Amino acid sequence: MTAQPRVVREVAAMQQLADQARRAGQKIAVVPTMGALHDGHLSLVRLGREHADLVVLTIFVNPTQFGPGEDFSRYPRSLDEDIVLAGKAGADVIFAPPDEAVYPPGYLTYVHVEKITDVLEGKVRPKHFRGVATIVTKLFQMTKPHVAVFGQKDAQQVAVVRRLMADLNFDIELIVAPTVRESDGLAKSSRNVYLSATQRAEASVLYRSLQHAVRLIGEGARASGAIIGEMRAMIERDSSGVVDYISIADGSTLEEVADASSRRPLLISLAVRFGTTRLIDNVIVE
Ligand code: AMP
Repeated sequence: MTAQPRVVREVAAMQQLADQARRAGQKIAVVPTMGALHDGHLSLVRLGREHADLVVLTIFVNPTQFGPGEDFSRYPRSLDEDIVLAGKAGADVIFAPPDEAVYPPGYLTYVHVEKITDVLEGKVRPKHFRGVATIVTKLFQMTKPHVAVFGQKDAQQVAVVRRLMADLNFDIELIVAPTVRESDGLAKSSRNVYLSATQRAEASVLYRSLQHAVRLIGEGARASGAIIGEMRAMIERDSSGVVDYISIADGSTLEEVADASSRRPLLISLAVRFGTTRLIDNVIVE
């Protein structure tokens, strides 16, 4: 385990390093992030460590996945702290390219995964997954991994990346890590720092509402509409959060299902706004 990871800024240097590792017979894991690291990100690094010899954590706040009016410019950035945390968790390399190295002048190429990007997050954030699919493809080209680790916290992102990897024949293993939560159940997120103390306390209702849905389904509830209604009532009763969506869907196709007993895995997901902060969370029913 490396205490102080190597920091790489240039694309060509990253590719050379990856080539060297591959020639030496090393297995490379990539953990793509936007930085402002927390325990959720670090759990991905640890999982990468278990599956590879060289763990590359990428830090890049990807402008193409933010819409106009979203939080790109105020997104938290803390590279120095991130390097220390990532090193302690076992990252060997931090790849943090500047924006112009990733999207130089004249840049024209984007990757679009159809259909599953039109629903849920994609409906509210129209070009988000085009940005995600593009940056993931580019980071794969830059870091040349055998293994890529993503978090279940971003369930639709996982579905999109899984489709992307299959459709474009990436010879890379996808590993999905469980969601790391605060003690009151709130999913760890770089965006939690935006919450006021009151909003932060209220936000635990998101996971409670998801657990409530799982309990109802376990007790035999089938009507998605009724389950969603109970979740919404709970969120509105216990918080100032404004529901963007609550969805019960097929875990692979992301198609909403009227009957919650009809598909497995089932993805129960939500997005709720607390003031200007938008939080997402989900659970899977296997
Ligand atoms: P981000 O920096 O928010 O783009 O996240 C980078 C990666 O960390 C993504 O694969 C996320 O799904 C994952 N991630 C974010 N939060 C968590 C969490 N609380 N638990 C597990 N993984 C997470």
